[in-house]
Amino acid sequence: MTRFWHPFADMAAVQNAGEVSIVRGQGSHIWDADGNRYLDATASLWYCNVGHGRTEIVDAVTRQMRDLEAYSTFQDLTNPATAALAERVADLAPVPGSSVFLTSGGSDSIDSATKIARRYWQLIGEPDRQVLIRRERAYHGMHTAGTSLSGIPANLEGYGGLLQDVVEVPWNDVETLRAAIEGIGEGRVAAFFCEPVIGAGGVYAPPQGYLEGVRAACRETGVLFIADEVITGFGRTGEWFASERWALEPDLITCAKGITSGYLPLGAVIAAPRVWEPFFAPGAGMFRHGYTYTGHAAVSAAALANLDVIEREGLLSRARELEGRLATALKPLADAPLVSEVRAGVGVLAAVQIDPEALGADPTLLARVVPACRRHGIMTRTLATGAIQVSPPLSLSDDEVDELASGLARVVEDLEAGR
Ligand code: PLP
Repeated sequence: MTRFWHPFADMAAVQNAGEVSIVRGQGSHIWDADGNRYLDATASLWYCNVGHGRTEIVDAVTRQMRDLEAYSTFQDLTNPATAALAERVADLAPVPGSSVFLTSGGSDSIDSATKIARRYWQLIGEPDRQVLIRRERAYHGMHTAGTSLSGIPANLEGYGGLLQDVVEVPWNDVETLRAAIEGIGEGRVAAFFCEPVIGAGGVYAPPQGYLEGVRAACRETGVLFIADEVITGFGRTGEWFASERWALEPDLITCAKGITSGYLPLGAVIAAPRVWEPFFAPGAGMFRHGYTYTGHAAVSAAALANLDVIEREGLLSRARELEGRLATALKPLADAPLVSEVRAGVGVLAAVQIDPEALGADPTLLARVVPACRRHGIMTRTLATGAIQVSPPLSLSDDEVDELASGLARVVEDLEAGR
């Protein structure tokens, strides 16, 4: 029996079938303890943007650790790596003059953004603005705030009362957001949380005009627009932030994952001047929020080295190339009877949707998808809708695009044969 309580796992099934131990990674590939090689179709959990085995990140962390592994950044303390990282992220941010609040991951960033948003309204004298609006299909991590903001019903169940004053709107309709803000009363709404491309909820790109429309609705009603760029940040849609692509200029951006490509855990909240100014104003007092590892020196060094790789290797332009290439390579899968849809074409993000009717008709089908992928050398998982996740490293080569598409084609044939 394992002592490792796996996240997002049916532990009875894990105990029964055993674990798969991943022991090595290089580029777009990983290896398990039995020597099986897989294409990493998901960049682990959407994070390994630069690919595995980057020794320059390892070296940067080692150098930093020799000087100083980490030290508290509470109150007036800082360190050179963290100061440099905050400057760099602020420079890359799609909103001029931003400030950067560092966290330990995406859920931390969402929790922090929630507190920053509600406290912002208190500070500027509108304490009634407390309501948070989430979208159907949304995933914002698993802390209490993120769980409360989930638009995936199964993720909300079983925990008793979560955050109060949270309202859900459809994922794809501007007018219902406007109506919701009006119905609640704009003087009561603090913030709208929005993934530019919905990720764990099934990979749904925004309908034409949607993001521009919801951004305008928030601007007109004063509601803070929070772009959750935990997946899309740091290159996955071909820009540093997806917010640039749609000219969103968010009030807050939450990010994590690609900021270090997962070499060490890190998250950030990027705050526009509108938001940070009241917190920094004389008399605002202490913002009593922060984490032990906020501004961790070795993690900051990993992030800086990771950003160097993204820049030097032109991974943003590679992401723009891969966007079309991946969509073209995956589209033929939609002809298979078991596949109802291939969602692709915005960023290095795609989902191969297993037909919901087939999933409904055969309760064993969903559980057979991932094992079939692994048999054909593809490491991935299924998302909330029963779609196969595709979000490889941005360093994926053209040959690896073919390896991915042909592997998934064999998976679909295999599943078809097993019906
Ligand atoms: N927000 C989004 C859009 C995510 O996809 C995730 C994780 O996948 C999170 C927040 C939570 O990030 P973490 O798992 O690092 O806490």
